[in-house]
Amino acid sequence: MFEYASAPESAPANINDHYGLFLDGEFTEAGAGEKAGGVNPATGEEAYTYAVAGQADVERAVKAARRAQKTWAALPGIERGKYLYRIARLLQERGREFAVAETIDNGKPIKETRDFDIPQAAQHFFYHAGWADKLDHVRPGAEPLGVAGQVIPWNFPLLMLAWKIAPALATGNTVVLKPAETTPLTALKFAELCQEAELPPGVVNILGGAGETGAAIVDSDVDKIAFTGSTAVGRRIARAVAGTKKRLTLELGGKGANIVFADAPVDQAVEGIIKGVFFNQGHVCCAGSRLLVQESVAGEVVERVKARLSTLRLGDPLDKNTDIGAINSAEQLERICDLVGQGENEGASLWDTGVDLPENGFWHRPTIFTDVQQSMTVAREEIFGPVLSVLTFRTPAEAVAKANNTPYGLAAGVWTSDPAQLGWTADRLKAGVVWANTYNNFDPASPFGGVKESGYGRESGRQGLEGYLK
Ligand code: NAD
Repeated sequence: MFEYASAPESAPANINDHYGLFLDGEFTEAGAGEKAGGVNPATGEEAYTYAVAGQADVERAVKAARRAQKTWAALPGIERGKYLYRIARLLQERGREFAVAETIDNGKPIKETRDFDIPQAAQHFFYHAGWADKLDHVRPGAEPLGVAGQVIPWNFPLLMLAWKIAPALATGNTVVLKPAETTPLTALKFAELCQEAELPPGVVNILGGAGETGAAIVDSDVDKIAFTGSTAVGRRIARAVAGTKKRLTLELGGKGANIVFADAPVDQAVEGIIKGVFFNQGHVCCAGSRLLVQESVAGEVVERVKARLSTLRLGDPLDKNTDIGAINSAEQLERICDLVGQGENEGASLWDTGVDLPENGFWHRPTIFTDVQQSMTVAREEIFGPVLSVLTFRTPAEAVAKANNTPYGLAAGVWTSDPAQLGWTADRLKAGVVWANTYNNFDPASPFGGVKESGYGRESGRQGLEGYLK
């Protein structure tokens, strides 16, 4: 077992030294015996090891999922729903344990895993459990696709798993899921939970591994690929799937605009700007990473954001007073630093909180760029880190034009006290999600997904279920 000095939430993380592949209801080693290490980003130390699936393991898992699928789909919806309710309740019961494990694996503050990631994951299972016996009323004769291959990123490891697995199971599909290589821990703990819930073997299969394992799933005999990750990998997957019978949904990157009009409720907007891009260290696909603020209030708003940011605590993610945790990996930190360097080279003005960074592990100070032009890299590329780029506008039309001036279209926010202004702006934003006087709020009933290069298909809500039905 992995020991850590202090457990502020007084919950043991119960992390095994090693995890196998979860295949056909059992933990087993990879055929080729390959392993990788899971690193705690707050210390840089290895916390556990896990088996890495090769192509033969992927094929075994898909076969197991295929065998299980007919029986699973033939269960009355109310019975499938019972399993999902059981999983949801077990996630709640073991919530603290999962929160500590997620924080150790991902680096995000325990405050977030405890109050957001884990409860939201449980909520997704509750929500979809409720659908399992009602689908027939909405879509009489609806048939599941079969076996879904699911590949997820590292920013919300358990929550992304819930977004993928809950709707697939509710609709009678079975799954082969691959968590990201830096954060497989809660997915593998979830596999233990499936055993505890006595889920029939083969309904859920979880395989550790990196891009090669993901590519093997994409190429395997599955009926659907559900992918969340970068636009570059999404493009590769779309090419691999083109011309096959496989259905595809893609949730990709973003460069969200958070638009603040001069008449916005400033206190709320300042909190919303911070939540928009510093929540989860900015490792959020729908992050409001571009602040578009009306020129007449820009100075005041930016000063207030800086003042508020300076009060946030960065440090040990297991400390419940921590607001800003660690960057998930050395590679991601390098990518963020590289993009920040480009921002400086291209002439944007950099400000950061100046806070002391812990000696070990991967850390980045909350950072703000002002004097940003639309052509600059920090205004165009997804940084996926705690970095805000500030642009200004004079008229609503200019705000909309700048907000839409990106190949992405995942999310945006609008802050104003004028409902007409809100409606006018929201109607013109090319983004899958538009938040009004709030940011980064989620609900399992609310469909989520992008337009343009942010992907296609929707997850959550009734629309999310459609993605798993013929
Ligand atoms: P990534 O694309 O590098 O990896 C995502 C997953 O794909 C990982 O599990 C990885 O192992 C796997 N993978 C890598 N190469 C593959 C291949 N050739 N075939 C199949 N699978 C492969 O992305 P990341 O760095 O893990 O995550 C960050 C990105 O994810 C960001 O761009 C972010 O915007 C995006 N994201 C989007 C959403 C959304 O809902 N739209 C949510 C979270 C993250």
